[in-house]
Amino acid sequence: MTRILKNFINGQWCDSKESKVRDVLNPATGECLAKVPAGSKEDIDDAAESAHQAWWSWRNKPPTQRVQYLFKMKQILEKNSDEIAEICTSECGKTFAESKGELARAIENIEVACGIPTLLQSDFSEDIAVGVDEYYIRQPLGVGASISPFNFPVMIPFWFMPYAIACGNTYIIKPSGKVPRTMNRVFELFEELNLPAGVLNMVHGGKATVDAILEHPYIKAVSFVGSTPIAKYIYKTGTAHGKRVQALGGAKNPVVIMPDADVDATVKIITDSAYGCAGQRCLAVAIILTVGKAGEIFTEKIIKASKSKKIGNGMTNGVEIGPVITMESKERIEKLIQKGIDDGAKLLLDGRNIKVPGCEDGNFIGPTILGSVDIESELYKTEIFGPVIIINNVDSLDDAIKLTNDSVHGNAASIFTTSGAAARKFRHDAQAGNIGVNIGIAAPMAFFPFSGWKESFFGDLHGQSFHAVEFYTQTKVVIERWHDEWTRKF
Ligand code: NAD
Repeated sequence: MTRILKNFINGQWCDSKESKVRDVLNPATGECLAKVPAGSKEDIDDAAESAHQAWWSWRNKPPTQRVQYLFKMKQILEKNSDEIAEICTSECGKTFAESKGELARAIENIEVACGIPTLLQSDFSEDIAVGVDEYYIRQPLGVGASISPFNFPVMIPFWFMPYAIACGNTYIIKPSGKVPRTMNRVFELFEELNLPAGVLNMVHGGKATVDAILEHPYIKAVSFVGSTPIAKYIYKTGTAHGKRVQALGGAKNPVVIMPDADVDATVKIITDSAYGCAGQRCLAVAIILTVGKAGEIFTEKIIKASKSKKIGNGMTNGVEIGPVITMESKERIEKLIQKGIDDGAKLLLDGRNIKVPGCEDGNFIGPTILGSVDIESELYKTEIFGPVIIINNVDSLDDAIKLTNDSVHGNAASIFTTSGAAARKFRHDAQAGNIGVNIGIAAPMAFFPFSGWKESFFGDLHGQSFHAVEFYTQTKVVIERWHDEWTRKF
């Protein structure tokens, strides 16, 4: 019988109070891997109660003691990295190497959060008046929660959770219902941590669970990552309930290629960026803007490199592109491609209708390239989230920057050039929060904030690094008066 996943609340595994479940499918084979509860408000009530009860004694532990659990966490993930990556690939579809890569990014955040004793340090002003000093301290908020998307089952909760608990909050993780087994396994492995019960909880579920998180009075801060419409909803609803919210949304990232860019390096980096994780990355290249002669120099070479990509089950050696997450997703992407063609785009490479031997029930789409795409069309404006790129030629760097800035999204933008002046102008003028110069995936290391802009982010403080620390703490200012004459003479 297929296993029904359980929640982890108050240090114990327990059944969801909702009996409805959904299938978790392997996107490469269609095999049912597990069943995940649809979730309920009652599950969140239990988790929030347990996290709230655990909070006071957890926040009173010195940060130096709290981070000891994080050092162990890192070791557990490293020791079990192959197993975790294999589970991730089986339910998410990305290649085994990509799964190992995302786990490394999760671990990197734990490492940065281990520096909490230093990151929590604050400023002190002596003598703001005679015998009076002022300083501030950072204190935790209470219970925090993360709600994550399907495309990085392990990494994304770690943009938030290690910082939150290191700062003295307790936490609830709600994984994506499409890929719940990876985090489930991580929680099984984390039992070895012997964290105090209630400090770290996991609740499976969908909308009912998310709505309960957004409304629960004990939950003070919510970190969301997912599509833009849901990010907007989360931000609006969570803040209306008095919570801090950081909501990371969708993307449609432009990449500008100047005629002077290094040809081989640019083609390799861009095609790796566009097709890695089957294009299901919020930092993936989606639109290539070739400037002037770059169109002639690069277009054919990008098509050729795209054709050479190996598609298949992410567990097979040498595979570079796995399936997209669901059959509905595949159909949605194929419809968008057709709509683009109907609206006048030139089909330069067609990845529809490909067959992968041995994976006939998988959700595969091959690299697809469309040229001369109308900038007002649905294909140009919609986040495709698949191995599909648009190549449009523009006359100048100014035109490319204008198109970049006209986008409603602002997650990332890159330029490929050997001109320092062009790179500087792009970095200075492009309206996106993560900028790459000769970089395909401008993913900030854990010691920098993940800085999406515009409709790719709703909130003030981003995930990772000092932003995560500020998000999961509140400042308390203290003003102290100590007169000299009160000095006791012993
Ligand atoms: P999604 O928005 O469908 O789901 C994200 C989370 O929201 C899931 O946990 C899901 O259970 C929950 N959810 C879905 N519908 C809901 C509703 N109506 N009410 C309340 N909760 C709901 O996103 P997805 O398809 O899982 O992930 C892909 C999206 O995530 C893409 O748009 C991608 O760009 C984005 N993403 C953004 C970043 C970033 O850093 N900005 C990173 C990764 C993914």
